[in-house]
Amino acid sequence: ITLRHLIAHAPRSIYSCRHLGTLVIAEHEGGSLSGTSLSSIEAASKLLCKDNNSLSLLLAGTGPSLQEAATNAASCHPCISQVLVADSDKFKHTLAEPWAKLIHLVQQKHEYSHIVTASSSFGKNILPRAAALLDVSPITDVIEISEPRTFVRPIYAGNALCTIRYTGSNPCMLTIRSTSFPASASLDSKTNAAPIHQVDLSSFGEEGSCRYVKQSKQESERPDLGSARVVITGGRALKSAENFKIVEKLAEKLGAAVGATRAAVDAGYVPNELQVGQTGKIVAPQLYMAFGVSGAIQHIAGMRDSKVIVAVNKDADAPIFQVADYGLVGDLFEIIPELIEKLPEK
Ligand code: FAD
Repeated sequence: ITLRHLIAHAPRSIYSCRHLGTLVIAEHEGGSLSGTSLSSIEAASKLLCKDNNSLSLLLAGTGPSLQEAATNAASCHPCISQVLVADSDKFKHTLAEPWAKLIHLVQQKHEYSHIVTASSSFGKNILPRAAALLDVSPITDVIEISEPRTFVRPIYAGNALCTIRYTGSNPCMLTIRSTSFPASASLDSKTNAAPIHQVDLSSFGEEGSCRYVKQSKQESERPDLGSARVVITGGRALKSAENFKIVEKLAEKLGAAVGATRAAVDAGYVPNELQVGQTGKIVAPQLYMAFGVSGAIQHIAGMRDSKVIVAVNKDADAPIFQVADYGLVGDLFEIIPELIEKLPEK
C-alpha cells in the first residue's frame, strides 16, 4: 500500500486539520469541469506526500452552473479534500485581474505549498499575474513531476527537456501540460463528495481597471482540437482554402479534429485557432495524420507526443518522416481522395 493510496482512501475528516496542501485553479463550463482541469487535478495528486497531503479546488463564477460544477467537482477525484467556490459577478467572465486577486486572497488565508493550473489560455493568462501578486516565480508547461519541488519542462520548442528544482518560497506555482497528465486513469464516479466551502469575498476590494467587452467563439461540430482522439493536419502544400476542404472531408469521415501548420494559417487557408505547434495548440491524440507538412521544429513541438503519427509528403527527405510512425511518399491530392473513398465510415 503506497502513501498515495492511504491518502486517497483516508476519511475526509482528517484533511481539515492539516495545513500544507495544493490548490488547483479549475475552469468550468456548462456545470462541468474542463478536461484540462481534470488533468490539473491528476497532476496535483502526484504532489501528495507526507508534508503536502490535501488537495483543494478553486472554482469561480456565478449562478447555478457554478454550483453544479462545484457539486460535480466535489466527487470527481478521490484525492480532492475540499472545493472552494467564489460566487460573484466579478468572476462572470474569466478576466485575469479579478482571478489573480482571488488567488492572492485564497492563498493569504490557506497558505498552500503548491498552486496548479493547466497551460491553457485561461491558466497562462491568470497564473503569472497571481504569481506576481504573491511575489514568486511560476514554473510553466510542466510535463513531469519528479518530486514535489522538482519538475521537467520542455525548452527550445521541445528540443530539450529541462529539470528544474524550485527553491523559492511558498507557494510553488505551476502550469501543467494537460497532454502529459491524462485524466481518465484515476477518475472514479463512486468517490465520496468532498465538502464545498464558499470563499469569503468581503475583503476583495475594488474591481480592477479592466472591463469585459466580448468573447467570440467559433462554433463547430467537430471535436475540440486540444482533446480529439484523431487529428488531421494540412500544411502549406494544400495551396488554398478551397483545397483545404479535402482535409476537412477526411476529418469528417474519421470523426477527427482539423489542424494546420502556421504556414497554412498565415496563408489564410484556415483560422488561427487550428494552428498546431509551438505558437499554436499542443496536441497528443491517439492518431495524428499530417498531409503536406514539412515537419519544422516549431510544428513538431506541438504534436510529437501523439501516440501514432502518419505523414504524407511528396519529399522523401522531409523532416516530418523522422518523427512519423508511418510515412507515405506521395502526392496528397491523390492520397487523400483515395483514403476518403476506401476508409470505412467513423
Ligand atoms: P512548408 O515548410 O512549406 O512545407 C510544405 C511541405 O509540403 C513540404 O515538405 C513539401 O514537400 C510538401 N508538399 C508540397 N506539395 C505536396 C503535395 N502535393 N503532396 C504532399 N506533400 C507536398 N509552424 C507551425 O506549424 N506551428 C507553430 O506553432 C509554429 N510556430 C512558429 C514560431 C516561430 C517563432 C517561428 C519562427 C516559426 C513557427 N512556425 C510554426 C513556422 C515553421 O517554422 C514552418 O515555417 C511551418 O511549420 C511550415 O509549414 P508547412 O509544413 O505547412 O510548410
